[in-house]
Amino acid sequence: MANKEEVFVGSIDQGTTSSRFLIFDKQGEPVATHQEEFTQIYPNPGWHEHDPEEIVRSVENCIAGALKIFEKDGHSKDSIKAIGITNQRETTVVWDTTTGKALHNAIVWTDTRTAAIARELKAQEGSDGVMDICGEPISSYPSATKLLWLLKNVDEVRKVYEAGNLAFGTIDTWLTYKLNGGPDKNVFVSDPTNASRTMFMDIRKLEYSDKMLKFLSYEFDLKKVHMPKIVRSADKEAYGKISSGPLQGFPIMGCLGDQSAALVGQKGFEAGSAKNTYGTGCFLLYNTGDKPIISTHGLLTTVAYDFGKPVYALEGSIAVAGSGVKFLMNNLGFSEASHKITELAESVPDNGGLVFVTAFSGLFAPYWIDDAHGTMFGITHHTERGHIARATLEAVCFQTKAILDAMGKDSGHDLKELAVDGGMSNSDLCMQTQADLVGIPIIRPKMRETTALGAAIAAGFASGVWETFDELKSVNTQGQTTYEAKIDRPAAKKMFGRWERAVNMSKGWLA
Ligand code: ADP
Repeated sequence: MANKEEVFVGSIDQGTTSSRFLIFDKQGEPVATHQEEFTQIYPNPGWHEHDPEEIVRSVENCIAGALKIFEKDGHSKDSIKAIGITNQRETTVVWDTTTGKALHNAIVWTDTRTAAIARELKAQEGSDGVMDICGEPISSYPSATKLLWLLKNVDEVRKVYEAGNLAFGTIDTWLTYKLNGGPDKNVFVSDPTNASRTMFMDIRKLEYSDKMLKFLSYEFDLKKVHMPKIVRSADKEAYGKISSGPLQGFPIMGCLGDQSAALVGQKGFEAGSAKNTYGTGCFLLYNTGDKPIISTHGLLTTVAYDFGKPVYALEGSIAVAGSGVKFLMNNLGFSEASHKITELAESVPDNGGLVFVTAFSGLFAPYWIDDAHGTMFGITHHTERGHIARATLEAVCFQTKAILDAMGKDSGHDLKELAVDGGMSNSDLCMQTQADLVGIPIIRPKMRETTALGAAIAAGFASGVWETFDELKSVNTQGQTTYEAKIDRPAAKKMFGRWERAVNMSKGWLA
């Protein structure tokens, strides 16, 4: 029988390809979990959408599924003290405030349809001051251009905007709004880690910036669009309560964008700590403490978390990581399981001179080349599938190396070690290659659900399950794996030099 004194925290992890609900105990161990994939919609090349209603349904199913396991194991749901949310960032939803119904599919963060809008904005006067206000350069990646595209191209969206009823939200906002019961309760909030991905927020003030709203207005008045109130990442009241289903009446008390959640879940609370999450994309966050550093080397400035006062991070985002592995599986028919791609990569001793620039949606950090295309260099009669698999994994490691170099330049400090997580970090070969390239220890925890754990920590802080960072020190430290470099620095430099040449040659193919 379960201990009556035990307390638990629930965590909704709404990712790019699946939703999950996990229930964590006070030691940070997941005791029950349920996961559900949902539909990926690709209407045109470069377009990527999700059905917002399906996302909500998948989350509700996950809650019900995990709770069943939890109760079957003898736990009582009353021991769940609070719920946290973590979510795919930037993905944009618009809905009608009077009905609570989404007006279009969500435009996903990977979607590049707004490249032309981004180019037009870049050409506008004042574009060079944008980074300093919102921490991000103009590109198709943040939510802003996605909202503009919807306003410009979808009649229904424009009609509702003209009537003054258009709501804009990232997935955290949409989920809290819907889980609270939609327009009835009208819980309409976002946390600073999510809001800092829109381009609308002043990164220092954690408020919407009039300057940014004006700069990004295009032909619209963005003040007419309802935008969620920005509240702290851990908050007892602001996120409301679940309005239906088995957790009806349970409070949501924490919210963090997925990459910030992973930093928190890796307990990256000290300035100078960093984590890299190898999921669909790959995201490296480096805690820079209570002051934002505006990058001059191709990184973004983001809010790491706000548990009372904001803590900032430099971020390097890589668009294609696990999705490169999926490409080999789904498009090229290499295998039917991700771990088999790693096995294929292990079947050859090295990349055989092959470099694969996996720029399927341009290149993100630190390069930001919109018109880079996926390109393979060095194909010979010797090239086999193993080399292509290996080069696909290596592409992520090379970009991580480039990001770490940029972080060193921006922060003035070199990183001492790197905590890793995400599906692709299961690949020992990939993690060893990463250590080889960057020359610092790569540390992988045994429990890899760090993103979900981060959201649970946010909710746990607000609900008093945990009170200090110190209490979390022992959480998830058992059984970690450390990878150290096995090749010498000149060999690493040579590999990386080849990659940099390949990046240069991948530009402008369809120009
Ligand atoms: P997300 O949260 O972004 O949906 P995950 O963290 O669940 O992503 O990671 C899933 C990705 O990791 C998939 O693209 C999958 O192909 C990749 N992956 C999982 N295991 C391995 C492995 N052993 N080798 C290589 N890639 C892997």
